[in-house]
Formats: sequence, C-alpha cells, structure tokens
Amino acid sequence: MIKVEKFILGDYMENCYLITDADTGEQALIDPGYESMELFQKLSNNHENNLKYILLTHGHFDHIGFVLKVYALTHAKIAIGEKEKDFLTQKKLNLSQFTMTQPLAPIDADILLKNNELLPLGNSSITYVSTPGHTQGSGCYIVDNNIFTGDTLMKCSMGRTDFPTGNDTEMKHSLHKISELTKNYTIYPGHGDNSTLDYEKSHNPYLGVL
Ligand SMILES: [Zn+2]
Repeated sequence: MIKVEKFILGDYMENCYLITDADTGEQALIDPGYESMELFQKLSNNHENNLKYILLTHGHFDHIGFVLKVYALTHAKIAIGEKEKDFLTQKKLNLSQFTMTQPLAPIDADILLKNNELLPLGNSSITYVSTPGHTQGSGCYIVDNNIFTGDTLMKCSMGRTDFPTGNDTEMKHSLHKISELTKNYTIYPGHGDNSTLDYEKSHNPYLGVL
C-alpha cells in the first residue's frame, strides 16, 4: 500500500504528489513543477533519502520546474514517457520559452518509459500507462487503487490539446483507455481536485457520458 501526499505548487496551481510505500518507506515524487520550500525541507529532513524516483506525467514547464533541484538533493531517478524526452531539453516544447523569464535548463532523464512498464517501489509496484493527447508522450502512473493522470484527465475535464504535439484524436483514445479500467480508482490529476473513476465515468463529458 502507498500513502499519498499532495502539494499544490506555483501560479498554475500544479499538483505534485509524494507517494510512500508504507512497508519500506521508499518514495517517489510525481511532477515537481515549481520550487517549494516546504517540499524541499521535507525531502532534506529525510536523512535516509528514500526518494527513489522523480516521475513525470509529461514535460510541460509547470510539471518539471523543480526537477533539477530535487535531483541535486536526492539523485532520484528521473522517469518520463519515451516520446516525451525532448520536452525536457527543448524550451519551445516545454513552453518555458514563452512563460518564464528564464527558460528551464535541460534535464536528462534516467528512465524512458514504455507503455505498461513497471517500476518497483518497496513492496509496491508502479505501472506507467502511455496516454498521448495533451502531449505526444503524456502518461499516467497507477499504484494500488490510485491513478495519477497529469494533464490527461482532470475532474470533469481533460487537458488541452492545442499545445505543440497535442492531438485530439489521440486524447480521445487515451481517455477511452482510462474509462475501460474496471476498478474505481482514486484519480489524482495534474491540476484541481481529486476524483474517482466511477464519478468521472458518470460526470465527465470527455469520458463519453454524452
Ligand atoms: Zn501540461
């Protein structure tokens, strides 16, 4: 089982999640998008340095802006979908060229994830699911009864498809793929409130209710 802690970061109210395997204390940080003293201190105070991964749902600036500092502190492995690699180095793709006075420095990924790839975290297992549409290499992470959906699926909404490499048809396929999951997962999106898959299936217009 994992424990989930949520941090809401930056001007775009980006959701960053710290997940901890309850048995072993091993941790992964999902989408550290903006510098956060609170989060930095929490990680610094963890003298065992249990942070094993920095997991990225996609490469937009508001989801990756704190990655390098967390990496320098913890040397956790940086993982992202294989088709999203260039977003970590190209400021036009990660949008930092247009949104930040100082565009983001390039980030080197340690793990380029393929669809359905498994990442062990203590006695838990994280599954990466490729869900392109918001960007070409967007993906979700599933652990136990939890799914971290980034900017693919949000409460009663979905991510935009008009940024570079966004694709409406791919987004529809990805949302359909999520809607076919049978468990009533807790949904932890990249922005906004948590939800559940059953709630989204009956309330989210993009999941095919209309
Ligand atoms: Zn995004």
